[in-house]
Amino acid sequence: MKIDLSGKVALVTASTGGIGFAIARGLAESGAEVVINGCSEATVNHAIQKLQQVVPGVAVRATIADLSSAQGVETLLRTVPQADILVNNAGIFGPQDFYGTDDETWDRYWQTNVMSGVRLSRALLPGMISSGWGRVVFISSESALNIPADMIHYGVTKTAQLSLARGLAKFAAGSGVTVNSVLPGPTMSDGFAAMMQDEMDKTGKSLEMVGKEFVMANRPSSVIQRAATVEEVANMVVYVCSMQASATSGAALRVDGGVVDDIV
Ligand code: NAD
Repeated sequence: MKIDLSGKVALVTASTGGIGFAIARGLAESGAEVVINGCSEATVNHAIQKLQQVVPGVAVRATIADLSSAQGVETLLRTVPQADILVNNAGIFGPQDFYGTDDETWDRYWQTNVMSGVRLSRALLPGMISSGWGRVVFISSESALNIPADMIHYGVTKTAQLSLARGLAKFAAGSGVTVNSVLPGPTMSDGFAAMMQDEMDKTGKSLEMVGKEFVMANRPSSVIQRAATVEEVANMVVYVCSMQASATSGAALRVDGGVVDDIV
């Protein structure tokens, strides 16, 4: 199977690092023009330079916008009023005690993880539908199904993304636009590395090693028994954005290494 996305414009939110950058890279390698988004000029420029090194000749655009607010999304839409592919990857995560999670935190998680995708879909879907082709992907999490007791605020937003993706798939029924969610499990992104930094400093162990220990201790149902790489997650996203994935819509696609102990 050869995935060819030439002529398509792909917006990947929060794509200066982690899973988002790997998705942008995968889409660029498949011929798409990619739009890199991040909160600061420095991180966006750095990501673009890195992308140009690994994908020579890549068509790439930049959009600096913090997607945790309506104004941030409006800023992005001024530079990217249309896209063929929208990957809603922006998301924040971190453990926090339920009693200690205040309204402001709940609201920040909701705005960043859910409302950014609502706002971007509302703005970009009409163009996709009228052109008869489009791909919308929400980067959810296995935490949408396996709600972690120490990250309830996060799990709630990730479950909401599944509902949103499923509803939007039905909303766009028959239009040639597919909407899906992808559910990674623990993945060795920049954010995950930051969460593991103390443990790495304390033990001198590599990210792969502490990632594996994290999975064995906290997600023992994992079938692969390790954390995934960002490329492993990106591969699924690139596929679901491809022409070949035209019969997949309204689906919740797991790249969780089998953490969710379920047959379907
Ligand atoms: P990451 O922290 O490594 O990278 C996130 C990127 O988003 C960073 O470059 C950051 O600058 C940018 N960003 C953060 N807030 C932003 C905002 N408000 N506006 C624009 N950019 C912003 O994250 P990751 O681990 O790659 O996670 C990406 C997505 O994957 C998230 O939605 C996350 O919930 C999901 N996910 C991650 C894991 C994991 O283990 N890493 C597992 C399941 C799901």
